[in-house]
Amino acid sequence: MINSITSFNKGTYKQPNIFGYFGNFGGAYIPEMLHRNVEELATRYIDIMYEEFFQKDYHALLKDYVGRPSPLYFATRLSEKYKTKIYLKREDLNHTGAHKINNAIGQVLLALRLGKKRIIAETGAGQHGVATATVCALKGVECVVYMGVKDIERQAPNVARMKMLGAKVVPATSGSQTLKDATNEAIRDWINNPNDTHYVIGSVVGPHPYPDMVARFQSVISEEMRWQLKEHTGNELPSKIIACVGGGSNAAGAFYHFLDDLSVELIAVEAAGLGVHSGHSAATTQLGKPGILHGSKSLVMQTDDGQIIEPHSISAGLDYPGIGPMHAHLFESGRAKFLSAKDDEALQAAFELTKLEGIIPALESAHALAALKQIHFKPNDITVLCLSGRGDKDLNTYMKVMNVNAE
Ligand SMILES: *Cc1c(COP(=O)(O)O)cnc(C)c1O
Repeated sequence: MINSITSFNKGTYKQPNIFGYFGNFGGAYIPEMLHRNVEELATRYIDIMYEEFFQKDYHALLKDYVGRPSPLYFATRLSEKYKTKIYLKREDLNHTGAHKINNAIGQVLLALRLGKKRIIAETGAGQHGVATATVCALKGVECVVYMGVKDIERQAPNVARMKMLGAKVVPATSGSQTLKDATNEAIRDWINNPNDTHYVIGSVVGPHPYPDMVARFQSVISEEMRWQLKEHTGNELPSKIIACVGGGSNAAGAFYHFLDDLSVELIAVEAAGLGVHSGHSAATTQLGKPGILHGSKSLVMQTDDGQIIEPHSISAGLDYPGIGPMHAHLFESGRAKFLSAKDDEALQAAFELTKLEGIIPALESAHALAALKQIHFKPNDITVLCLSGRGDKDLNTYMKVMNVNAE
């Protein structure tokens, strides 16, 4: 079970080298003031995560609190429509409505084992903030969530949830007053409170060891998929796995235990916004260049002189100008195929799934669904699509579409 990294190498698809590189991407580009915190985490995370006691605690919470294993559901009518066999990995059924809780539980347990007494997080749409605040309530730990002023205004229900859960929501007032500014505030807090505080990052981004650590916590998704596929089909290996990518944590979790099975086609779907070349997009692998964002080297949407280009997606969870270093490596090496779906295609796909299967997906997950139209399937192909979250939070957007169509 323990995958300790013992040799200098270029990393594998699954594991970074000792410096945190997946191929040409990763590392830890951090200010001097953060070295102590990040170093402590990097030297201890593997040992703690694979302790018997930790594993027992983590898996007990995943089972009884989150409701895992999440079902692998054969989508009959969706399969008929695309003339193939499609299974949905139901992360939407997790407590708090998405895959993010898998990582939040893991990191808060790890922080407690490190002796930390205080948790901080950044959030954009509020999903990661809610997941983190939930686990902090469960464990009785102080929780501070940084959130851009604009996002606080746009995401009132999630702000209310976090407050009800006992978290302090601190407005980030600088810059564009959104996710990247909240991230800067969280980093500043961590620098000022290195001894008692752990910073919970919500995706496979950030300095090493975060991308690897978050991927390991989310890898429970593909660990379950293997035995569930065996149960359903007699074979652990599917033909294809499809997942949406913001920072890339649900995709990393869904791909993880299949990365070395080269017969399995891995398909990541980015948000193309109004169109990849419209100037309003978040399709990082199509538009990005190597650069450093939030502590790691990866593909980043930036101008020629290195300024971050503001991304756009209808889905807040995919509205990010970068991508985790593991995914940059999967893209560059060709191990995974990267597609993109536009805002309107995602909306259409959300309504299609709802009508065919009675499942209202999150707008993020709807991007993965939209990619079904772009893929050539054989009738006997077995495809697993990671349904990363449920659509309750997106009802306002869906209602606007229905009102327009009713006019
Ligand atoms: C946050 C979120 C995403 C995007 O994050 P990843 O790290 O790329 O998985 C996708 N789906 C849902 C439902 C989310 O809440």
